[in-house]
Amino acid sequence: MLDPLEFQLDHHIADLNPRKRRDPGNAKEFIFSREVKGRLSSSRKLENLYLVAIGIRPSSMFHPESIEEMLLVHEVAQKLGMGVVIRKCGTLVYKVFLFGREKEEMALRIPDLYENMGYREFIVAQITMANLTGQFLEFPSCCVESFVKHLMEGTDQDLAAHEELRRERGPDPRAYFVERFVPCSVKCPRAIEEGGRIRDRLKTMDRELAELYLKLQIGHMEDVRLGRILREKTERDDKLSLPLQGWTRRGKKQG
Ligand SMILES: [Zn+2]
Repeated sequence: MLDPLEFQLDHHIADLNPRKRRDPGNAKEFIFSREVKGRLSSSRKLENLYLVAIGIRPSSMFHPESIEEMLLVHEVAQKLGMGVVIRKCGTLVYKVFLFGREKEEMALRIPDLYENMGYREFIVAQITMANLTGQFLEFPSCCVESFVKHLMEGTDQDLAAHEELRRERGPDPRAYFVERFVPCSVKCPRAIEEGGRIRDRLKTMDRELAELYLKLQIGHMEDVRLGRILREKTERDDKLSLPLQGWTRRGKKQG
């Protein structure tokens, strides 16, 4: 495993090139092993690692909750021959990208972002990053466009999605096909199609994992409906607001 201190001094040491894909049985044994059990969430194991390791999805991304979680995912990904790139989005936020060979070239173009570049520049960089990430993760373009529109207009996509879902009767959990993905609408046909495709592929290979995946989709939908994503984001923004306030104060002094 990578040394946490060395990692924090230079997170680029965690970059890994993808190797040949694992066969499904092998990947399952590794990811759902006793060693990993209980130390990673089902979403990390199934959506971030398994689906990418066996090629049902080309890539995945998550915001780690701790350095330990990030380094454990890194270790498992390395054993599985997956590609890994860890980048910063602001001083305090890491993003972990996992991928197969077809996304290798694109992965190396993902930049680090820092808020001390200036508030407006940071927003513009976030928009570029959202487009790049959406393409890298092969999210439906309508959902990426909707996310970018909210960024440009300074509105909150998570709040809009939360309110829309609360009004909706009989929503389809397939639209919430990976953790923290928010579809452009509750009824987005392309998001529903992707969620259905993943579930069908799993069903033909492994009934147990297909059932687990359905539970995860329902959970992701509930995260939006109950406003969990909103709360998480507010907490993160609170942490991030320190350097941003510093920037504003400096700006005022100069003016
Ligand atoms: Zn959409």
